[in-house]
Amino acid sequence: MSDVLAITEHRRGELRDVSSELVTAGRELVGETGGSLHLAVIGGDVDAFADELALDGVDTIHTVAEGDEFNHDVYVQAVAALYEELDPTYVLMGNTVNGLDYAPAVADVLDIPLVTDAIGLENDGGLVVTREMYASKVESTVEVDADHAAVTIRPSEWEPTEAAGSPTVEAFDFELDESRVRSRVTGFEEVGGGDVDISDADILVSVGRGIEEEENLELVQNLADALGATLSSSRPIVDNGWLPKDRQVGQSGKVVTPKVYLAIGISGAVQHVAGMKGAETIIAVNTDPDAPIFDIADYGVVGDLFDVVPELIEQFS
Ligand SMILES: Cc1cc2nc3c(=O)[nH]c(=O)nc-3n(C[C@H](O)[C@H](O)[C@H](O)COP(=O)(O)OP(=O)(O)OC[C@H]3O[C@@H](n4cnc5c(N)ncnc54)[C@H](O)[C@@H]3O)c2cc1C
Repeated sequence: MSDVLAITEHRRGELRDVSSELVTAGRELVGETGGSLHLAVIGGDVDAFADELALDGVDTIHTVAEGDEFNHDVYVQAVAALYEELDPTYVLMGNTVNGLDYAPAVADVLDIPLVTDAIGLENDGGLVVTREMYASKVESTVEVDADHAAVTIRPSEWEPTEAAGSPTVEAFDFELDESRVRSRVTGFEEVGGGDVDISDADILVSVGRGIEEEENLELVQNLADALGATLSSSRPIVDNGWLPKDRQVGQSGKVVTPKVYLAIGISGAVQHVAGMKGAETIIAVNTDPDAPIFDIADYGVVGDLFDVVPELIEQFS
């Protein structure tokens, strides 16, 4: 039997989607071993979060009422204390900005191995983790040669658990060592602050580095206008300062689930795909027939966007 402790995530009073995905991943693991699935929610309105997290397959929710927002030092200490108390075989965390901030420190403090960015988990007499490498071109299998391990799971890789369950909820008290809390959240500022929420759009026309020059963006904006769509982009476009940060799709941008996602001159790097693979229909335009975006596209046009996009505008106008 292997117990799993999954650490949920929240921001500004709301649970992040990865929390219920962690439940699915954790259930898969304990399903194979007959162990228990423990969830922890640290900080914020822990009682309200516990109500929301009363999901199918969860055995116990541990609420740790320490602080409001994520704090590295508090999370490391709280997870270490829970681990000492529960002795789980595996600790699961999100492969998110927060998860990648504290998971390595947790593994270090507990002296257990850490495997990041898991897209598959199996318990085959030991933990076997699937990861991707080289922009999703290679899948690697990591066999963990240890009794206990920590893993961060890639967001959107597991279906969220939605069915209700009836876990036990327990308040977890531990003695926080204040002298080891060396950072505090003093405020929260949303960067970008644009007027468009790309995660709300039904149709996204997304542009990548294939567009070459800032002035060429107008062409793709014209296509978005013809389709009644919203313009989004891959990261290099934002890094170049051509579009604001709130238009970026991907791991360090926004996760979007539109009905239609048109990827124009986007290669389909794993960090981009992490933000858009939940789209109902994916259409890609790319000159390179081997671009990874075609691996996940429902429809693909191998061609020069400077030929294809004007043609699409004409067709849709
Ligand atoms: C920690 C981390 C986080 C990241 N987060 C994100 C993120 O949130 N979002 C994100 O997008 N990236 C992110 N990245 C960057 C990511 O790894 C890629 O570098 C990025 O997605 C590539 O963007 P692109 O596809 O636009 O550019 P490229 O990879 O340069 O691809 C351009 C594509 O355009 C095609 N092309 C060129 N000319 C034309 C033409 N005339 N017509 C048609 N096609 C053409 C090319 O064949 C190519 O496939 C992150 C990276 C790291 C390390």
